[in-house]
Amino acid sequence: MTELQEQIAKRRTFAIISHPDAGKTTLTEKLLLFGGAIQLAGTVKGRKAARHATSDWMALEKERGISVTSSVMQFEYGGAVVNLLDTPGHEDFSEDTYRTLTAVDSALMVIDVAKGVEERTIKLMEVCRLRDTPILTFINKLDREGHDLIEVLDEIEQILKIQCAPITWPIGMGRRFKGVYDRRTGCTHLFSAQHGGRVIEGEVIKGLDNPRLDEVLGEQADELRAELELVEGASHAFDLDAYLAGRQTPVFFGSAINNFGVRELLDAFVQYAPPPRPRMARQRRVTPDEPAFTGFVFKIQANMDPAHRDRIAFVRVCSGSYQKGMRLRHVRIGKTIQVANAITFQADERRHVEEAWPGDIIGLHNHGTIQIGDTFTEGEDLKYEGIPYFAPELFRRIVLKNPLRMKALHKGVIQLAEEGATQSFRPLKNNDLILGAVGMLQFEVAAYRLRSEYGVEAAVEPVSIKTARWIQCTDPRVLERFKEKCFEYLALDGDDHLVYLAPSLVNLSLAEERWPEVRFLATREL
Ligand code: GDP
Repeated sequence: MTELQEQIAKRRTFAIISHPDAGKTTLTEKLLLFGGAIQLAGTVKGRKAARHATSDWMALEKERGISVTSSVMQFEYGGAVVNLLDTPGHEDFSEDTYRTLTAVDSALMVIDVAKGVEERTIKLMEVCRLRDTPILTFINKLDREGHDLIEVLDEIEQILKIQCAPITWPIGMGRRFKGVYDRRTGCTHLFSAQHGGRVIEGEVIKGLDNPRLDEVLGEQADELRAELELVEGASHAFDLDAYLAGRQTPVFFGSAINNFGVRELLDAFVQYAPPPRPRMARQRRVTPDEPAFTGFVFKIQANMDPAHRDRIAFVRVCSGSYQKGMRLRHVRIGKTIQVANAITFQADERRHVEEAWPGDIIGLHNHGTIQIGDTFTEGEDLKYEGIPYFAPELFRRIVLKNPLRMKALHKGVIQLAEEGATQSFRPLKNNDLILGAVGMLQFEVAAYRLRSEYGVEAAVEPVSIKTARWIQCTDPRVLERFKEKCFEYLALDGDDHLVYLAPSLVNLSLAEERWPEVRFLATREL
C-alpha cells in the first residue's frame, strides 16, 4: 500500500443529521471526548450558548465565528482519522447545512426517542438520498420515556424509506433504562448514569443466558429475551452492502448526555462507515488514490473571525494529497495559484495545514474569486458535479432605502449568492429583487452584510411566495407557451435560469399537472 492508500483507508468523513434538540451537540461532544479532543467539547458548548442571541450583531458575529472553528472537527479513534463536518441546525440552519452533506462519505442520524422522525430530519435525509449516502442511526434519550421502539423503527422505515437493522437493543427506557444489548457480540452493557467528561466502562455481561443477567436485571432479563425474539422476527439483519448503498441503516440506542451507547456507535462507525470513495466529475470518474490533487468547494464563510476578516473557501479533498506550498489550478477561472497557507479548523485556533488527504477539508483564503462548486486540481480541467442549489423555502423582497445604491445592492446580492449565503430572483413581471433562503437567519445576515460590506441600507419584506422550482423543458415551443401562460410566476435566478415562484403548494401542483412536459426541479446542479 502506498502512503496515499493508507491515509485514504483511515479516513472517515461524516456529518450528523437531526432535528434541533435531538442531541446533536451533546453527541458531538461525546464523540470528541472519545477522540481525545476534550478541549473541543467546550467549543461546541460555547457555540450553543451564543446561538440564542441572534438579534445582537456582536453575538451574531461571535456565533458565526465560533461556528466556523467548529465547522470541521478532526479526531483520531481506533486507528481511523475522523472528520466530523458541522451541519448548522438551529437559527443558523442554511443551505450550508445541505451542501455540507455533499462533502461527506456518510452520515449519522440522531433521533429523539420521544419525538420520532421530525421534519428537519426528513429534509436532510432527502439530501443524503441524492448521493445514496450511507447512514448510521442513533436513537437518543433512552433515559427518558419515549415511544414504543418498534414503532419508532417502523416510522423510520415508512417515512424515511430506509430499512432498519438494530445493532444494539435497549433494556427498558426512562427510569427502567438499564443498558443495551449488543446483538453482534451477545454482550449486555450495563448503564451507569454519568455526567461530565469522564469515560467510565460499566459492567459487561456475556451471553443472553448468563444468570448474572437475571441477577442484575430481575424481571427485565426475561423481558429483554422476549423483546429480542420479537426484534429478530420484525427487523432486518445487518447487511453491510445494503448500508453502503444507502438502503439500510444500522440502528444504535443510547443516551448521549450520559455518554451511554456512544462507544458502541463510534466503534461501529469506524468499522463500517466508508472511507472516501470515487466521485463523479463532468469529464470522468475520479478515484481518491489518483496521485494528483483534486477537490471542490462546498462552502464559503465570510467574516468569521474578527482577527481574520477574510472569506474562507472550504475544499473537500477528493484525490491525491495537499502539501503546503503546492500550486493548484482554479479550473473555472483558468488560473494557477500557490497555496502556502491553507488552514484547518481545530478548537478556536486556526492551524496551518502541512498536508491533507482525501476526505480531509482544507480552508483556502478567498478574496472574492472562489465560488461554491469550484474545482481545484494540479492542472487537469476537471469539474466536480453534485453540489446543488436547493430550492429556497423562505422568501423576502429586498427594498432599497436609497435608490441610488441600486448598483451596489446588485453587486452585494450577487456576491452573497456566489458564496451560497442567499439566492436571488428577479421576477419577469416587475423590478423586484427577491431573496430566497432555507433558514431565517440568512436574511438577517444578508441585510447586515449588505450594510456593513457594501454600504447598502436595505430592508427585507415578506412576500407571498411559498417555494421555487427550476424550470426545464426540451421542447422550445412548449417552453414559449409555458412562459406566456405562467408569466406572473416566473423569475430569473442569479445565473439567469428560469424559475417558477409558487405562491402555494397547491398552485405548484396544479402547474405541474397542467404542464406535463415541463420539469419543475427542486435542486439545480452547480
Ligand atoms: P441539538 O439541538 O440537536 O444539538 O441538541 P442538544 O445536544 O443541544 O440537546 C438538546 C437538549 O437535549 C439539551 O437540553 C440536552 O441536554 C438534552 N439531551 C441530549 N442528550 C440527551 C439524553 O441522552 N437524555 C436526555 N434526557 N437529554 C438529553
